[in-house]
Amino acid sequence: KKVADRYLKREILGEGTYGVVFKAIDTKSGQTVAIKKIRLGKQKEGVNFTALREIKLLKELKDPHVIELIDAFPHKGNLHLVFEFMETDLEAVIRDRNIFLSPADIKSYIQMTLKGLAFCHKKYVLHRDMKPNNLLIGPNGQLKLADFGLARLFGSPDRRFTHQVFARWYRAPELLFGAKQYGPGVDVWAAACIFAELLLRRPFLQGNSDIDQLGKIFAAFGTPKPSQWADMVYLPDYVEYQYVPGQPLKTLFPTATEDALDLLSKMFSYDPKARISAQQALEHRYFSSGPLPTEPALLPRPP
Ligand code: ADP
Repeated sequence: KKVADRYLKREILGEGTYGVVFKAIDTKSGQTVAIKKIRLGKQKEGVNFTALREIKLLKELKDPHVIELIDAFPHKGNLHLVFEFMETDLEAVIRDRNIFLSPADIKSYIQMTLKGLAFCHKKYVLHRDMKPNNLLIGPNGQLKLADFGLARLFGSPDRRFTHQVFARWYRAPELLFGAKQYGPGVDVWAAACIFAELLLRRPFLQGNSDIDQLGKIFAAFGTPKPSQWADMVYLPDYVEYQYVPGQPLKTLFPTATEDALDLLSKMFSYDPKARISAQQALEHRYFSSGPLPTEPALLPRPP
């Protein structure tokens, strides 16, 4: 069955945050694509102009480490977003017990993640929903960020769908304190959580509620002191927490090198203003010192 005269529908790939995702063939290019059908819940009038203008901006967001939005169109009251098709994702790599990730492999995956982030942040686009299953991996081992800008366009998904609780594990402390204004730092924090997950091979901070998430963060790094993060007291949901000491990063990540720990500590900075940017992170000595990042084509991937 054809959609919009151009795409040949194939099997369903899965149910995502915003609706069902299916595989399709683009008859124009012969390319395999993934089409996200987005339910337009409340807006009965269909896709509004603001959304369409923003989608147009997302289509211009072209980078080797960002999933390309090939096309977007309304069809039978649903918005359809057409993306390049990707083989697997970083979550599958992390979970696969048969895959050994060397320090060079981890460096390569996190470098590609930061490259995609730095590009989008330069264009003033935030991701806001970074997690390992949003980092897709192509046939040549290239990692690309998926769903860029969608969280802002279609609303933060985690309140609407219960299976989205995992996104909580990647939330920055300013979001957990209810910040309404936030910046690229939220994506850097999430990238740090993914970096940590690559090192540990399990999610690093697994909170089971927003309060518990802050508790997990504080148990790892210690309660933030006003000297570390002066502005936290002005955040809407700020409450004073009982003091807990942090743990040395070396204890939390025994396998990481000094360079890796130094970068990680800067990405996990409490104060979003003091947090390292994606671009600065790429310039950190971790990426120039040995072992150098693995060539994407040589990275281990699930069968
Ligand atoms: P979520 O919102 O839970 O992250 P998604 O909406 O991104 O889920 O995706 C739902 C399903 O579709 C997942 O199983 C994912 O692997 C698959 N999928 C999403 N985008 C692509 C893509 N570009 N190529 C191949 N599969 C994809």
